[in-house]
Amino acid sequence: MQEIELIAEADKRARDYLARIDGHPPFPDQTARDGLAIFAEALPEQGHDAAGTLRMLDIHGSPATTASNGPRYFGFVVGATLPAAAAAERLLLAWDQCASSYDNSPVAATLEKIAGRWLLDALDLPRSSAVGFGTSATACTLSCLSAARRSLLAQQGWDFDRDGLIGAPEIRVIVSETVHIAVKKALRLLGFGTARLIAAPVDAHGRIDPDRLPLLDDRTIICLQAGEVNTGEFDPFVPLIEAARKAKAWVHVDGAFGLWARASSRRALTEGVEGADSWTTDGHKWLNTPYDGAVAICRDADALAQAMNADAVYATASGDAQKNLTLEFSRRARGIPIWAALRTLGRSGIAELVDRHCNEAEWLADRLRETGFDVLNRVFLNQVLVRCGDDECTARVRQTVLDTGAGWFGSTIWQGRPALRISLSSWRTQHEDVVRLAEALAKAKG
Ligand SMILES: *Cc1c(COP(=O)(O)O)cnc(C)c1O
Repeated sequence: MQEIELIAEADKRARDYLARIDGHPPFPDQTARDGLAIFAEALPEQGHDAAGTLRMLDIHGSPATTASNGPRYFGFVVGATLPAAAAAERLLLAWDQCASSYDNSPVAATLEKIAGRWLLDALDLPRSSAVGFGTSATACTLSCLSAARRSLLAQQGWDFDRDGLIGAPEIRVIVSETVHIAVKKALRLLGFGTARLIAAPVDAHGRIDPDRLPLLDDRTIICLQAGEVNTGEFDPFVPLIEAARKAKAWVHVDGAFGLWARASSRRALTEGVEGADSWTTDGHKWLNTPYDGAVAICRDADALAQAMNADAVYATASGDAQKNLTLEFSRRARGIPIWAALRTLGRSGIAELVDRHCNEAEWLADRLRETGFDVLNRVFLNQVLVRCGDDECTARVRQTVLDTGAGWFGSTIWQGRPALRISLSSWRTQHEDVVRLAEALAKAKG
């Protein structure tokens, strides 16, 4: 099969998959999962044909997908993919740009610069910040925290790039007791041992308590949260950031999904967050763009550009070239699907998307309360955290609902006990899907 026919065949199969997505079980059934055994081949000596490979992938792969691109997927705060973002992604594949810098790809550099400006505008963060489009909130947190440490050390007269860490002044790191594992992972990779992290005590809602804040100084990085992963709670940014500013500490905000509240009628939840030094957020969660699309934002643009610099004699570029703001050198133009999402949603569309999910979450929480569930969090964002009676009942209800196919959602541990964690973050989810989920939960509980 010629290239063009092959691509057309792939597009047709992709279209057919999407046309069936509403009926696709949120989690693949046993038969579909057993079907994956066909892929357990040895590496072929002679390559197979491309058309047959595509057919195999679709026939045996598609049924075994989780329908995270469907309307009834309520797991992990991940969203489906917006049509405009998916369409841009398709075209990008044909372009095959190595989006390191303007010299590598004028179109990618131009659009990612615009996407960066629009993001700062949508999230109302300092407009002169650097914006790096990385693979994930994890990777972007790594970039931001690298810049943070390098800057704090420079203020102590230490050249991190030249002299590294051995003998360097100690940088303290404060994280919330409820810090996300991705932030811990980034810190671990950067050489901040987990035992040395200072845990800031939280209140009953899981927010850092400003009255019990550990000592801050000009050698401290403090990591705050916009959207705690279970509850969707926000740290009280105003007093915390004020204290950090006074102490000349570096404030980083993990806003993987919650930062988008700032672009909605829930903006007040993020009050003061603009005073931080760096922020991370995902495109691939609440903005509903394809994986892997995330953003590192740094108030001091040079701090990020210097920490992530990858200029070589054969490849020099400006400080705002994406290879100088992200971990990757060769990279996909992951800012372009984000550009397409922002262009088609507009400011009002983003607000509508976020508000709709928050309203649905509130509706679901009310419904579940009425049917005797314990709603464990204050539901003002897109997260609903529930239990029913004892731990055994909670686990049984989850399995029963998953078996009905009414939706997929995960379980978590909250304040020492298992809970069900339901996230509303897919543009495809309609009210009827939430009604169906509520009914299935009520019925399973009995
Ligand atoms: C998902 C998530 C992360 C990690 O994001 P990735 O893009 O998956 O690396 C970090 N923090 C919070 C609060 C999250 O929800």
